[in-house]
Amino acid sequence: MPDCGSRGVSEIECRQIAELLGDYLEGSLPGATRELIDFHIDGCAPCVAFLNTYRGTVDATRKLAEVPIPAELKKRLLAVLKSTRE
Ligand SMILES: [Zn+2]
Repeated sequence: MPDCGSRGVSEIECRQIAELLGDYLEGSLPGATRELIDFHIDGCAPCVAFLNTYRGTVDATRKLAEVPIPAELKKRLLAVLKSTRE
């Protein structure tokens, strides 16, 4: 495991949290992984903020999905979502 300057926050990095957040919110992660994320988020303010933003985005997307939206707008939304995941 590379030394990434762990400050004792958790065994996983913020970048990994970002990558796993979609599955985390869907509840499709194994319990051990969820616990690691919970533990990390508990002590990491940036990840809390990221989680809240991500949640807000998902909620907004769900709401939008209930009404027909122009294909172009949908395409742009998906592009935004994709870029935040990368
Ligand atoms: Zn973090």
